[in-house]
Amino acid sequence: MNDFLLSIVIPVFNEKDNIRPLLESLLSIVEHYSYEILFINDGSRDGTDTVIREIAQKNKNIKLVSFNRNFGHQIALVAGYSFAKGDAVISMDADLQDPPDVIPQMIAKWQQGAKIVYAKRKKRDVDSIFKKKTAAFFYQFMNMLSDIKIPENVGDFRLLDRTAVEYLSSLPEHAPFLRGLVAWGGYQEDYVYFDREERHSGKTHYSISKMINFALDGITSFSVKPLRLATYMGFTAGSFGFLGIIYAVIGKFFLPIPWVTGWTGIFVGIMFIGGVQLITIGIIGEYISKIYLEVLRRPHYLLKEKINID
Ligand code: UDP
Ligand code: MG
Repeated sequence: MNDFLLSIVIPVFNEKDNIRPLLESLLSIVEHYSYEILFINDGSRDGTDTVIREIAQKNKNIKLVSFNRNFGHQIALVAGYSFAKGDAVISMDADLQDPPDVIPQMIAKWQQGAKIVYAKRKKRDVDSIFKKKTAAFFYQFMNMLSDIKIPENVGDFRLLDRTAVEYLSSLPEHAPFLRGLVAWGGYQEDYVYFDREERHSGKTHYSISKMINFALDGITSFSVKPLRLATYMGFTAGSFGFLGIIYAVIGKFFLPIPWVTGWTGIFVGIMFIGGVQLITIGIIGEYISKIYLEVLRRPHYLLKEKINID
């Protein structure tokens, strides 16, 4: 029954004080299986790698891959998937926000046939109202714009079957939006539920600007509807503009309007067209920047060291 290899993939960025407490609770659970714990050190500058290296010397099942610099959480996850050897691969945060106790339940669901087992948050008490509201809005918006359905209240704490891991680690994308890509794969899915706790130590790496970038990456990875919206806005603004032209020409030649009073109309027109144009250019720019980053074909990350990995 337990004749399989379990990989735990953990991206870490400046998590020095979380590593030992995390391993303490994680090891007591994964010890019951054949396991490997793979840390992807995403350019930490606080000595996180030193802590992991010390532990990895004593326990060969604990492995470390270090990036040259910070390449980002999603890239670290993809790298983790490509190094993981397990038949089932679980990704989780290093900060103990994702409790190891639900791992046996995830494995049970996987053994019942699910290819993806999401750990879903029951409550988000520890998140601010702002984060809850913006997250809810984002998922509604995302599901409206794209054809994939991303489950709500689900983060990057999930179990993937080997087949799904192969698919994700072969992705050529430079800004992979894993939550969407996992859903896009269409694998048979299941859920387990947990309460999300406060971070054990340190603070979140997802600032508001990072969250906005993350959301924009998500939208532009899975939908071209914003481009269509730009077209619609262009048509709408153009129609108003056309009406304005007729009004101005007729007014000039046939209506007794003293011409100078047209100031408000001109001002509103310029502002409106200007606004629509800027939004449209912005939307197009988002997609162009995606194309640009892809055509450069740079490596997704550069490695500094590998420990306990052959
Ligand atoms: N992380 C990373 N690279 C980054 C930012 C975060 O590898 O550039 C790691 C971080 O160490 C943690 C996980 O990704 O293990 C999730 O980050 P965080 O806990 O800050 O996000 P939150 O849980 O607040 O959404
Ligand atoms: Mg966290």
